[in-house]
Amino acid sequence: MNLLDRLFSKEIQRRTGAHAITIYIESENAKKRSRSRGKKALTSASASTKKTTTIVTTKKLQGSFLRRLDTRFPWLKLFAVLIFGIIVVLDLCDLTISHTSDESNRIKIAPMAKHVRVTERVLNGKKLVALTFDDGPSELTTPRLLDILKSKDAPATFFMLGSMTRTYPDLAKRIEKEGHIAASHTMYHQNLIRIPAAAMQDDINEAKSVYSNILGHDPTLVRPPYGNYNDAVRSAINLPIILWSVDTLDWKSQNVDSIIATTKNQIHDGAVILMHDIYPTTVDAVPALIDTLRQDGYEFVTIPELTNIRGSNLTPGTIYYNFRP
Ligand SMILES: [Zn+2]
Repeated sequence: MNLLDRLFSKEIQRRTGAHAITIYIESENAKKRSRSRGKKALTSASASTKKTTTIVTTKKLQGSFLRRLDTRFPWLKLFAVLIFGIIVVLDLCDLTISHTSDESNRIKIAPMAKHVRVTERVLNGKKLVALTFDDGPSELTTPRLLDILKSKDAPATFFMLGSMTRTYPDLAKRIEKEGHIAASHTMYHQNLIRIPAAAMQDDINEAKSVYSNILGHDPTLVRPPYGNYNDAVRSAINLPIILWSVDTLDWKSQNVDSIIATTKNQIHDGAVILMHDIYPTTVDAVPALIDTLRQDGYEFVTIPELTNIRGSNLTPGTIYYNFRP
């Protein structure tokens, strides 16, 4: 090593650590190999020329190492791609939504619901309520409601009419895609206890087939219009029937302050809150309603989440008003 070499080595070592020495030695060895083959070696190398040599040597070393690896283990690349694929698939299929330690609070929901950021809802120790919206989906009001629910990380249960679902299939799909539950409010909103048995059965069956065609599955929960039922309705529906314990009277008042006050007067742990997503005033009330209930220690869940947490085994034809602890 001449003086320039030593100075260069020290400078590289100072800047990049011991690795530079390895590179330097490798470049020296390359020079020796070159000399032994009778080629004329460099006799006076400036620091800048040396620098170029080390960079080239490093690149050569990396290239040959990867080439050797690839030749010896040709299956290695395929294996890496396979592992990456498995990780991506597992991530997409992550169904667990709760980060609480309480096992009873761990729930399964649809994979697509991940982006609702439901993991941010800490349910442990919270009073739970289910927002339910009837009579939609409506092109005029439901998209804005869905935007609000998404921004508030609040899932809801939609008792949709078959007729509206058929008119706005994309909205019905969006409801499910964003982590909410799409349930049935029958086909044409008829008063089921006032129509002939055959007409009642037709209405229920038609709604079922609309849901099946558009959403790819039958509804699992039903709310008969006006909350009206008798034994014939219960047996014709043959699914759990979800009514409500908090009536916001949103359809009647169509007033934000009144909707919030009426809800706060009746609210309780395990409540099922009745609203209608076809009224602009109802949608207007939702952000403040969510905020005020959260301030009072409530958190929002879908009906299936609520029944799961409260250990309620829903049975077909049975009427449910709420799911108190
Ligand atoms: Zn209704």
